[in-house]
Amino acid sequence: MARGYTDQDVEHYERPRRRTRPRTKDRPEHADAVDGVVVTVDRGRFTLVVEGRSVYAMKARPLGRKGVVVGDRVRVVGDVSGREGSLARIVEVTPRTTVLRRTADDDDPVERVLVANATQLVVVTALTDPEPRPRLIDRALVAAYDAGLAPLLVLTKADLTSPDELLSTYRSLGVPWVVTHRGPDREIVGLEGIRERLQGQTSVLVGHSGVGKSTLVNALVPDADRETGHVNAVTGRGRHTSTSAVMLPLPDEAGWIIDTPGIRSFGLAHVQPEHLIEAFPDLDEVTEDCPRGCTHGEEEPECGLDEAVEAGEADAERVASFRRLLAARSVTDY
Ligand code: ZN
Repeated sequence: MARGYTDQDVEHYERPRRRTRPRTKDRPEHADAVDGVVVTVDRGRFTLVVEGRSVYAMKARPLGRKGVVVGDRVRVVGDVSGREGSLARIVEVTPRTTVLRRTADDDDPVERVLVANATQLVVVTALTDPEPRPRLIDRALVAAYDAGLAPLLVLTKADLTSPDELLSTYRSLGVPWVVTHRGPDREIVGLEGIRERLQGQTSVLVGHSGVGKSTLVNALVPDADRETGHVNAVTGRGRHTSTSAVMLPLPDEAGWIIDTPGIRSFGLAHVQPEHLIEAFPDLDEVTEDCPRGCTHGEEEPECGLDEAVEAGEADAERVASFRRLLAARSVTDY
């Protein structure tokens, strides 16, 4: 036990420095914590991947109401063995590099962070059956640009319809694309091109039912049977619901994909024109002298985008496409 000190106690004067240093510096909190990444979230329980193992965890009390989402990199203490019945504690969330969020809307009354630390947003669309919905694609692109994610279009069923018309809409924006179709043995032709684009990325896949997203996920991650909700040992315990995002490792450590069965639309009311245009540095540059509060939309009287097009300094089609995205923030008839 520590002794009580008095003014007369010689030992007190012999070691003053130890007594003035804050305790936390002497004993850093959670020195034993290990790194993990959140791959599923289900009613306050989290599946993490820690050193290649699947670990089940909850939030430590000091994190309070701080959200933990799929893609978050976290520090974990406690039982990280991953054994049946074990439960670790998340004590820290590492600052996020990107945040994909949705504004509150009719589907969901709360603004939410959907996914953290993703680098790419893959919009999966069928070229026919079901017909592509350009406004939905536009809205997904807006979400990607606003979040700082690189967009990628994956167009399926290219054997039934040419992608040219749809692609012409996105060419001036410089959105990269891959087309796929089913081969004679039902295999996905074009899969290699997608794998190349996913290499080293953390890619969020969005797409409506019937476009072939589940088929694509199953082809990319053979262990993940997304139709039945079964997930392999590394990626979860099959407990998550099919409506939440799930992060899956690509074979050979080629990157991660995040499947989002529950995300049917993006609430975009939080997206500011000033932020969106930063995804297009050439357009951002010519709007430097825009009137205060200019939204760079079609109706703006003195927008630098119009002046740049007139002066031949900006591509009219590119400006029109940017403005289409801007307008897509607030469409409701998609
Ligand atoms: Zn402007």
